[in-house]
Amino acid sequence: MTQAKSSISGKGAGRSTRSSRSRTPSVDNPGKVLKRSRYSKAETYAIFQRFHADNPEPKGELNYVNAFTLLVAVVLSAQATDVGVNRATRHLFQIADTPEKMVALGEDRLREEIRTIGLYKTKARNVILLSQQLIRDHGGEVPDDREALEKLPGVGRKTANVVLNIYFGHPTIAVDTHLFRLGNRIGIAPGKTPLEVEKALEKVVPPEFALHAHHWLILHGRYICKARKPECRRCVIYDLCKSPEKEKFDAIPEIALRTKALIDKDTAA
Ligand code: SF4
Repeated sequence: MTQAKSSISGKGAGRSTRSSRSRTPSVDNPGKVLKRSRYSKAETYAIFQRFHADNPEPKGELNYVNAFTLLVAVVLSAQATDVGVNRATRHLFQIADTPEKMVALGEDRLREEIRTIGLYKTKARNVILLSQQLIRDHGGEVPDDREALEKLPGVGRKTANVVLNIYFGHPTIAVDTHLFRLGNRIGIAPGKTPLEVEKALEKVVPPEFALHAHHWLILHGRYICKARKPECRRCVIYDLCKSPEKEKFDAIPEIALRTKALIDKDTAA
């Protein structure tokens, strides 16, 4: 699979660069945005049932060994691929997996460790500063608290949402470029800004699917409902999707039929 630029990023990252002729609204070019979801409650439920049947335990693609290394990996992933971040952190996390070790490593050494990642100088500075702040204000622990997380250098709402979801198990939804596009393209959670899409998703995602919604939508946007050309032939929600950009086929793709059959079998059992 092609590794897309990471969607999980820090302050100011994740802005779409799509052309102004694009039909799908982007952060830079909101265009015409729907007022509400195109889907009924039952249709939204069916969409998340499909994602669940297809991938019951979705996982993020960044490697980490504890809350601190997850936080660092997410900060490093702004404007970078998860594969690229994982390559750089494989050695880094062996030598610096706590804020104390990161501070001891120092900014110059850290720069060397992550120099293959875009914006590495700013990111190295932020990681050292956030490590110092974690030691000073939180006893070296990553706080399970949005406000405290967002006060850390290089940590915005999206990064905080990822850490709160993946490590602490909160049903938060981090809206990156993929989720923003998907929310508007298929019209499940339209919004002019990532925050509007996040709030719209919080309203429509059924509670039993809230914990994994973030991962399902990121993976769907990254690998199937791609920015340039959605791969509708491989889409598990093809027959449910109401996007005007959906490719039209004579028959529903096999993957959607198979996933629906899994749900029907489960319901009948
Ligand atoms: S059918 Fe096509 S446009 Fe709709 S969600 Fe699937 S990939 Fe995206």
